[in-house]
Amino acid sequence: MRANPDQRLLIAGAGLVGPLLAILLARKGWKVELFDRRQDPRLTRATEGRSVNLALAERGIHALMHSGLMDTIRKLIIPVRGRMIHRPGLPESFQPYSQKESEHIWSISRADLNRELIRAAEATKGVRFHFRHSCLSADPGKHLLRVKDEVSGQISEQPYDALFVADGSSSHVRDSLTAEYGNFVRTEPLQHSYRELRMPSLRDGSGFAMRGDSLHIWPGDDFMMIGLPNPDHSFTMTLFLPDHGKVSFASLKQNAELSHLFQTWFPGVQDDIPDYQEQFFTNPPGQLGTVYCQRWAFPDIVLTGDAAHAMVPFHGQGMNCGFEDCAVMSELMDQGDNFSDIFQNFEKRRREDCHAIATMALENYVEMRSLVKDTQYLLRKEISFILEQNFPRYFIPRYSMVMFHRIPYQEAFQRGQKQEEILDLCCRGIHSATELDLERAEQLLRQLPAINPASVAV
Ligand SMILES: Cc1cc2nc3c(=O)[nH]c(=O)nc-3n(C[C@H](O)[C@H](O)[C@H](O)COP(=O)(O)OP(=O)(O)OC[C@H]3O[C@@H](n4cnc5c(N)ncnc54)[C@H](O)[C@@H]3O)c2cc1C
Repeated sequence: MRANPDQRLLIAGAGLVGPLLAILLARKGWKVELFDRRQDPRLTRATEGRSVNLALAERGIHALMHSGLMDTIRKLIIPVRGRMIHRPGLPESFQPYSQKESEHIWSISRADLNRELIRAAEATKGVRFHFRHSCLSADPGKHLLRVKDEVSGQISEQPYDALFVADGSSSHVRDSLTAEYGNFVRTEPLQHSYRELRMPSLRDGSGFAMRGDSLHIWPGDDFMMIGLPNPDHSFTMTLFLPDHGKVSFASLKQNAELSHLFQTWFPGVQDDIPDYQEQFFTNPPGQLGTVYCQRWAFPDIVLTGDAAHAMVPFHGQGMNCGFEDCAVMSELMDQGDNFSDIFQNFEKRRREDCHAIATMALENYVEMRSLVKDTQYLLRKEISFILEQNFPRYFIPRYSMVMFHRIPYQEAFQRGQKQEEILDLCCRGIHSATELDLERAEQLLRQLPAINPASVAV
């Protein structure tokens, strides 16, 4: 679609997805305006209790490269090569994400990334930001977005030619559309929440308190703590617990109970976070859940990012998936000739894929909090790497398909299920990877269609 600078494109939300989308649209010649209820993050250090750091992977990197931003972002990221598993009374053990040196994820500060995206969007000259402006609702018939100026309290009606909804998982604009189009949104709370703690760098500032290239996990079966490194050598620790039950946010009311939990399940961590009790009882809790939308496209309005497909964070894909949305939208804008068709094609291309990653993200919670300590899981992982090495056109571990490639999520999910069945057969009756019958494995794998090389990152 040829850009028409006389038309007004609005984006609700200037979190992670909104500004990247704005950059891609502005580069095509469109004029874009974003409204966000927050203060301009370039003027504040507050993170409003949201996750401090995020894992960036292939899909996100690909979209950032497509927008020409990766050189700037590269200065903000540090590599995370695998999981370090901590279990009381046992030595810690490192589980690499991949057998390939180049395949790892990157840790990035959400606030730094957000500021960089906003700066880059403004630098295009085609983008205007309106911070401290809350989007209240959209009127698709009149092409109007109702916006409240949080400073003056005034409410205005902003006309648009196309509206991109990127105001996050609790999207007000999305929910306002249900009045006209019926309830197309289903939210499934996880009934587990999280709270973040900061583990500072070593006291003399000389480095990380734990191995710095790892995602640290303390699996507790029904709960877990994780730690993701930051470029300033601190760790963002996140404690995920059920809302109710024996070990839960509801049961942890006093310092003594918290101290008992740490001593039992996370021994040693208290020494590296001397004020962990104060942080735990002061930092805001974060809710987790999945948002499924049966409809994403409306006349001249489209849902993107978490507003369309919020998911639990256990696969580290929410932002990566949102950035992939931006790359797909950019491609479709080049191909289509009116907004409504483009938005419908976008929904067709993305919706089922996003349902698939939401399911895989839920499954990964069980893997992280429980399976990682299982010997059978470790054997399957070892065999997965052998199969990938020997038959790369037929087998790529599911985690790698999601994190290190751009294989559509649905395909990764379905292929992953078939691969699990093959792994069941390969692992039956063996206790070590040296006993693997490679010929039989090959026969089984060649019954699967070959992986499309275009979706494999090299
Ligand atoms: C604990 C945790 C860890 C995570 N870890 C990862 C990870 O490792 N990797 C990964 O890829 N993803 C991760 N995610 C997911 C990721 O944070 C989200 O998927 C991503 O932020 C979605 O971007 P978005 O722009 O759609 O929404 P958001 O980033 O939530 O941005 C929405 C924006 O809209 C604004 N807004 C909200 N309501 C209104 C309104 N009414 N009017 C105007 N503006 C409004 C908000 O102020 C915000 O700026 C994690 C999430 C959590 C909770």
